[in-house]
Amino acid sequence: MNVCVIGTGYVGVVVGTCLADIGHHVVCVDIDEEKIAVLRGGGIPIYEPGLEEMCRRNADTGRLSFTTELSEGMAEAAVVFIAVGTPPGAGGAADLSAVHAVAQNIGTTLSRRTAIVIKSTVPVGTARRVTEIVAEVTDHEFAVVSNPEFLREGQAISDFMHADRHVVGTDQEWARQRMDHLYRPLVEDGRPIVFMGNSSAEMVKYAANSFLATKISFINEVANLCDRIHANVDHVRRGIGLDQRIGTQFLHPGIGYGGSCFPKDVRAMIDMGRQCTYPMRILEAVESVNAEQKTLLASLMGQHYGKSFVGRRIAVWGTAFKAQTDDMREAPSIIVVGRLLERGAEVAVYDPEALGNMQKVFGSRIDYHEDMYTVLDDAEALAICTEWNEFLRPDFAEVKRRMAADPTIFDGRNIYDPTIPRDHGFTYYSIGRR
Ligand code: NAD
Repeated sequence: MNVCVIGTGYVGVVVGTCLADIGHHVVCVDIDEEKIAVLRGGGIPIYEPGLEEMCRRNADTGRLSFTTELSEGMAEAAVVFIAVGTPPGAGGAADLSAVHAVAQNIGTTLSRRTAIVIKSTVPVGTARRVTEIVAEVTDHEFAVVSNPEFLREGQAISDFMHADRHVVGTDQEWARQRMDHLYRPLVEDGRPIVFMGNSSAEMVKYAANSFLATKISFINEVANLCDRIHANVDHVRRGIGLDQRIGTQFLHPGIGYGGSCFPKDVRAMIDMGRQCTYPMRILEAVESVNAEQKTLLASLMGQHYGKSFVGRRIAVWGTAFKAQTDDMREAPSIIVVGRLLERGAEVAVYDPEALGNMQKVFGSRIDYHEDMYTVLDDAEALAICTEWNEFLRPDFAEVKRRMAADPTIFDGRNIYDPTIPRDHGFTYYSIGRR
């Protein structure tokens, strides 16, 4: 099938490449000329394991290509994906300006019966609005399909290729058949395509992300309480997670969720409630617990060092919002480093992939290192903000040798058994395991 994907960010490139990999002919379109130049040159504009090789391989077969010209992208397309950004706008509502602009352009470019598939995360009612926008400028037949994406950065290929389910919202039988044909190779092992109406499909994405964010804020609150009552959250989460009604995933305490999805989707769902005067009280609490959690490491350092950090050098391992990505959007490290600077600390950071994006936030106010050990030189404290694998089994003797006297580790991701750093002579703080 001929497919056009509009938007070549984290979602668009993955969707386009994976659909090409299962045999479709895909043209990806973006207005960002630099991104398209990188993609045409055989690179990818983001860090995503396995994607560059897969992208190049499919481009070499001729099934995958890139352009800035929408008319070129849509020339043969039976299905057009909208995968542009929907960042938080005023009051937390999703900013739909890019989606609406693309819808208008699709409408004026349509030349045959086409399924217009909204991949971007959009609030309930967007499919209806996109239908109106396109209908105003075309006489060709089309259907707007809501098809939310559930991939996680860092595991995006496997999440797309082996999704637990594909959610497809449409009320048109021909569009339903087209989507069934598109995804058939991915569901032949019995994974379902779940068909429903547009509004329900739009709601599924927000409900899923909000539920996962709720699990994270819940376990963070449990961990904070454990710290105060001398219980160990590792034991508690295992004790509850083995209950199949609860499950073990997303019950790992830390310094809060970040990224391009959870924070904005929780806020957008709160806004949807507000729009129909139904306050989303649980999600308001989830959001406020998360905001507080991002300040936890700085608070622990305040308890340890006192109010001012002037004259103290603090090293940070990990700045990406999670491991296996270079994405810094709403990363907890931004809050941690911001607080340290406010209190006068000297900050040095290391991340294997996200330093470029960190630099866009902090410029020359902090030191950047490309080595996880040199960043530690003369630091009194090490703050761990991202759970990259390379931090899991460090050479603690080398860490200690490089750091200043009385070194302290503030582990914002609970990556160590507390006895190990303590046995190596570190003062060690983590979350919920005091
Ligand atoms: P992104 O910001 O990385 O990429 C968006 C791309 O759209 C950019 O390359 C931008 O140049 C392009 N764009 C903007 N306006 C355009 C236009 N008029 N024509 C062509 N291209 C245009 O965003 P992303 O992270 O890929 O997210 C896209 C959507 O998918 C969002 O709604 C997001 O919430 C959702 N989503 C993201 C993830 C994720 O993990 N990143 C997962 C699931 C869903």
